[in-house]
Amino acid sequence: MSLKREVYEALEAVVGKRWISEDEFVLSGNRVKTPEVPFFYHTADAIIIPGSTEEVQKVLRICNENGICFVPLVSGVSAESFANRAGTVLIQLSRMNKIVEINGLDRYAIIEPGVRHVQLYPELRKRGLSYTAAAVGPGGSVLANFTSSSGDHHNQHNASRSNRYLLGVEMVMPDGEIVRTGSLATDSGWFCPDGPGPGLRGLMKGYFGNHGQLGIITRIAIGLTPCNGPSEIESGGISPNHYVRMISPCSKVYVFNFEHIYHVRDAMLKIGEAEIGATVLKYFYLPATLMMTNSANEFHEKWNGGYKEALSMPLVVHLATQSEKEMAYEEKILFEIMEETGGKRIPREIEKWWDEHMDFFMIVSRLQSVLRLGGGWMPIKLGSDSVTHMCEIGRSIGDFIHDFTDTGKIFDAPENYQIIPMEYGHFAHIELLVNWDRTNPAAGKGIGELRIRSRNNDLENKFHAETTGSLNANMEALGPLYSNCHLWLRRIKEAIDPNGIANPLM
Ligand SMILES: Cc1cc2nc3c(=O)[nH]c(=O)nc-3n(C[C@H](O)[C@H](O)[C@H](O)COP(=O)(O)OP(=O)(O)OC[C@H]3O[C@@H](n4cnc5c(N)ncnc54)[C@H](O)[C@@H]3O)c2cc1C
Repeated sequence: MSLKREVYEALEAVVGKRWISEDEFVLSGNRVKTPEVPFFYHTADAIIIPGSTEEVQKVLRICNENGICFVPLVSGVSAESFANRAGTVLIQLSRMNKIVEINGLDRYAIIEPGVRHVQLYPELRKRGLSYTAAAVGPGGSVLANFTSSSGDHHNQHNASRSNRYLLGVEMVMPDGEIVRTGSLATDSGWFCPDGPGPGLRGLMKGYFGNHGQLGIITRIAIGLTPCNGPSEIESGGISPNHYVRMISPCSKVYVFNFEHIYHVRDAMLKIGEAEIGATVLKYFYLPATLMMTNSANEFHEKWNGGYKEALSMPLVVHLATQSEKEMAYEEKILFEIMEETGGKRIPREIEKWWDEHMDFFMIVSRLQSVLRLGGGWMPIKLGSDSVTHMCEIGRSIGDFIHDFTDTGKIFDAPENYQIIPMEYGHFAHIELLVNWDRTNPAAGKGIGELRIRSRNNDLENKFHAETTGSLNANMEALGPLYSNCHLWLRRIKEAIDPNGIANPLM
């Protein structure tokens, strides 16, 4: 299907000939970027690259008047950033890539959608500042992460996730009206998410983000945090052997292995209570080994040569302090807690890898290694609740996953989940990561079955294990576990987007 001539010409008149295309080779190159995603995608009718909020506004008005669905995107690594039905245009926001302001005093930055982590992170770090940078990779959009999808990251133990740091927001609604929220609504600046009257941050982002289902967000302010560790990072080497070192007596990484997830839980809670540590996470053992190796052969050699056991239940702890005295204090407490909870230091040969890769944002430049095992990978669950609840969910994975790992449907790594506490253990996030051979049709089918088993397990046990974000089949199934949020989101969506054109996912 293609756009009516007059519609295409109207869109072209807004952005200019150079920034719109309906050429087949351009559209098919923008169909879907992750081939293992088992959904069917349509080719969009056009791709439009606006350069300003005003252009976005005009484009959305044309879409709304003509009943054309739109999907905003930046890097497009999310499965929800492509056309899933006929009559859809893609709105690519990468041209709107200005860091409008970095305010070091009040600790916020104002950014446009096309600003990538690789742009913002180094700018902040050299000022001694940081933010909740997702491990999606340097090319991911900061704004998309803060407003529209997910928001967890590896350093949230002594901070929180991106929804907590979203401040003022400017959004173009599907009918072209511009909404400005928080302090921005009263022209008081970008610093606060809530202005006089009801706060709209929950509506814009909630916990997870709604994948552009209420409109296109064109500018946001985010709250900044101080750097964990030294602001100067030494990097070098050539990919894939590059390193990132935080050289300072005030930055140290320890990795402990545990017998059981309940012991990890106890350790996490105690570390949180003591308010020590910059990063604390129970990490996935499969990606850890993959990232430590440069080929499939090397991986199998290490995995079967002791890494699987050495990292079976690993807790990574990064201590980043203001002084050496504080470091000595944190180390003392940490080792006492490990003594009490049974955490054993992993062999130094493995642990030292973290010394050169502790900056998780940088680690992701190694994340492609994770795809080496046959190309199929998928995160499942991604929910949050208390540390105790997350660890109970982690334990329950063993109740069903062996039907998949023992039969070769997915890679045999049953404990391949991560749990990241946040806000010093007042909350935590879980992610179960599965890898499979995407050329094996039986494995592809197995993934579908695994997702259903995982969800049914959560529903039966009333586990808050999976996130609800956008209005889709997942949200409909899980809504009853979360105060019927699906009914509320449906009403909000109908009120803001009565024609259902903003990234419809049902
Ligand atoms: C390898 C990998 C690792 C990842 N790790 C993490 C992680 O550690 N933490 C985490 O939180 N997420 C992670 N993700 C998930 C996700 O990709 C991120 O949340 C990411 O930041 C989204 O940014 P993007 O540039 O990829 O956005 P896109 O894929 O381009 O967009 C994401 C969604 O937001 C919508 N959207 C984009 N821009 C706008 C806008 N301006 N207004 C309204 N809606 C918009 C899109 O329609 C889409 O539904 C990971 C993904 C991959 C592939």
